[in-house]
Amino acid sequence: LKTQNFPNVPDTDYADISHRQEIQQALQRVRQQLGKTYLPVINGEFVQTENYAESLNPSNFSEQVGRIGLISIEQADQAIAAAKAAFPAWKKTPARDRATIIRRAGDLMEQRREDLIAWMVLETGKTVREADPEVSEAIDFCHYYADEMERLDSGVAYDFPGETNRYHYQPRGISLIISPWNFPLAIPVGMTVASLVAGNCTLLKPAEVSSIIGSKIAEILLEAGIPNGVFQFVPGKGATVGAHMVKHRDVHMITFTGSQEVGCRIYREAAELQPGQKHLKRVIAEMGGKNAVIVDESADLDQAVQGVVQSAFGYSGQKCSACSRVIVLEPIYELFLARLVEATRSLNLGNTELPGTKVGPVIDANAQTRIKEYIEKGRLQSPVALEMSAPVGGYFVGPVIFRDVLLDHTIAQEEIFGPVLAVMQATSFDQAIAIANGTNYALTGGLYSRTPSHIEQAQQEFEVGNLYINRGITGAIVARQPFGGFKLSGVGSKAGGPDYLLQFLEPRVITENI
Ligand code: GLU
Repeated sequence: LKTQNFPNVPDTDYADISHRQEIQQALQRVRQQLGKTYLPVINGEFVQTENYAESLNPSNFSEQVGRIGLISIEQADQAIAAAKAAFPAWKKTPARDRATIIRRAGDLMEQRREDLIAWMVLETGKTVREADPEVSEAIDFCHYYADEMERLDSGVAYDFPGETNRYHYQPRGISLIISPWNFPLAIPVGMTVASLVAGNCTLLKPAEVSSIIGSKIAEILLEAGIPNGVFQFVPGKGATVGAHMVKHRDVHMITFTGSQEVGCRIYREAAELQPGQKHLKRVIAEMGGKNAVIVDESADLDQAVQGVVQSAFGYSGQKCSACSRVIVLEPIYELFLARLVEATRSLNLGNTELPGTKVGPVIDANAQTRIKEYIEKGRLQSPVALEMSAPVGGYFVGPVIFRDVLLDHTIAQEEIFGPVLAVMQATSFDQAIAIANGTNYALTGGLYSRTPSHIEQAQQEFEVGNLYINRGITGAIVARQPFGGFKLSGVGSKAGGPDYLLQFLEPRVITENI
């Protein structure tokens, strides 16, 4: 095995009081800027729009974080035309110059770390301790993909006596990024900078509920020196403007992270050849998960309880990597469950601006309603082991643990994307693996065990893109745990890994007879 060492940037040490004070100051600073209007960026200009969306603080929905201008179909066409015009020069820009701009963007994010965290706390209800590693991840994406592009740019010489064969990569063209709100900084930054550094003209359409953080990304990229038309910020309604851009004949690729339903629709719509379109589109879609952690009778329960609680309820379960099923071997089932319930009960629930909060709100009213409906469906099929009450004034949902859940129950199959955990019992390790594999998804999975044969069996048979043994299953780090799944969890290769950039490139071979 080849060893790879990438110098990830460190997270903040909040044991140091000065860092805690910096965050409080940043929250005050950002709070004074609430209520502003943010605009799309087309061909290097901030453009006025006819329609706007409001972005609210999910911890306190009477507070407006800001307003975002939503582009029209005509403006989407203008952005795509500007991208097309800017492409030849960006394609010719040497990879190391593109990489320099992207690294500079990462450095600007480090300089603005506290403010970016404060925006994430206020716009998406993250805790500071969840938002801080997200800034690190975004910076790592900038540095890692810049390094990767320089590595790939050197190409390969397959030379032969009398003949040179040079393998090179070129960008694909116009690239559309459709990003989610749950990692409002790291995911859009990762997808966007990968596309840009590879030489593509890139349009970023953020999720509506995290568009203000999206506009902070746009500000940073422009400040870092991305030329006009090469990067454009195109917030808009997904169902109309988003769908229009997906179908546009001049778009070469779409990179999406979000729900399975939308991912499958994009895949289908992008496959259809439009009049005048001279290429097939590539789609990268990172979709959901129904991730399981197996706890066997040899597990260290202190570790297992803590890892499951963190993986299931961190950011209210709104990570596609989150644990939503825990499969426990029968001899320790009751003991584990009792400890899991008590550990969950001790979590502080509330406004994430308060330092002691462990679980914040869910993202918006729709999410709150959808999660509550799942809880009601769950109640019809399985006993409730814990249901915590939720504060009012924000989109809060108290963590819920169901016990004795069976594989065909709705809450064991469908992604809920909220603080709802299904505890399932297995009578053998083989059965535990079968339950774990018994969904349409294959994203993350975990095992707590001190039995070598179980660890080996899980390595062989647990069908997930990212398997974690004796630790939590969220929080993948760039170039350490390249992240992504298969089955209906997604199509495309792993973010933060060595194959990711290749998806944004077209390989060519030039043979010369000499
Ligand atoms: N990469 C994140 C993690 O490992 C999850 C990304 C997502 O939710 O889309 O926790």
